[in-house]
Amino acid sequence: MRRFALTAIVLASSLTSTLALSNDKVLNLYSARHYQSDEAMYAKFTETTGIKINRVDADDAGIVARLKAEGSASPADVIVLVDATRMASADAQGLFKPMKSAKLDAAIPAHLRATPTKDGVTWTGFSTRARVVVFDPARVKAADVATYEQLADPKLKGLLCTRSGSHPYNLSLFATTVERLGEAKGEAWLKGMVSNMARAPKGGDTDQVRAVASGECGVALTNTYYVARLMRSDKPEDRATMAKVQVVFPNQASSGTHVNIAGAAIAQHVKNTAHAVAFMEFLASPFAQDYFANGNNEFPAAKGVKVDNPALKTMGGDTFKADTIALGVVSKNLTKVQQMLDRVGYR
Ligand code: FE
Repeated sequence: MRRFALTAIVLASSLTSTLALSNDKVLNLYSARHYQSDEAMYAKFTETTGIKINRVDADDAGIVARLKAEGSASPADVIVLVDATRMASADAQGLFKPMKSAKLDAAIPAHLRATPTKDGVTWTGFSTRARVVVFDPARVKAADVATYEQLADPKLKGLLCTRSGSHPYNLSLFATTVERLGEAKGEAWLKGMVSNMARAPKGGDTDQVRAVASGECGVALTNTYYVARLMRSDKPEDRATMAKVQVVFPNQASSGTHVNIAGAAIAQHVKNTAHAVAFMEFLASPFAQDYFANGNNEFPAAKGVKVDNPALKTMGGDTFKADTIALGVVSKNLTKVQQMLDRVGYR
């Protein structure tokens, strides 16, 4: 009898939840970011709006492939991707829907968003990461690596290491630098870097930092959150790596250090625009900004929001001058930069 009663209760409650689901407010989120802190952020969104989040987790390429395969049948409402190059590329493939939001216009600096059209803005950055220089102070002077331009100086011959030139992190930096320097100087800069390579590009950003510490390279490029991870690591070998290298935020006396974004966009075939807009606006709120940025040792994108991250602070990340060139230029220059990389042999 007791067992029967329990079964009846379970049945009744599962029936209720099925009914509730069909009337529920839902947002379908395709995300290339998965950090533990995300859960708390999403729970808060559901708590304040009553909108449940169904999440599809994949990497950036997986999400783009899935959206293309699903076409107009895609249930995706909001897409979270990492890097302006990936945003620009997905945008160029027609996967995003432009949106208008006075809240986002006010909260997020325009240079961290796609170039606006008459229909609105497609993608919006919600956190930033700086692309910094790491060097071996035993082999390289800080004054010789104070700018991105100096990475092409023959003084650094045989010392430079980077990941692949066509990796999105590098493409975004190169696309904004080519915009700033112009095509001729931009291509000469890329060529100069190729001449300075200590080895053919390979590995990820963390591998470059380790290669500087091991003496294989004298100078390398990396995103700030990889440096922060090594600094905060509980592995002694990671802290030993950081003890051997120094970090420079380039171009402090000129254009500022290149910053890239992790961001979001409304899906082209969005099923519930109101929920999607509400979620995008939520991501710009101080609460969500704290989780979104700190979950990966990044900086908040919204104006006036600061998060306390000791590793970023130690690195100089609370005071550096960031480049404010519009990341929308990445869309415009992407193909051009890829052709330049082919010409100068930057693999
Ligand atoms: Fe990364």
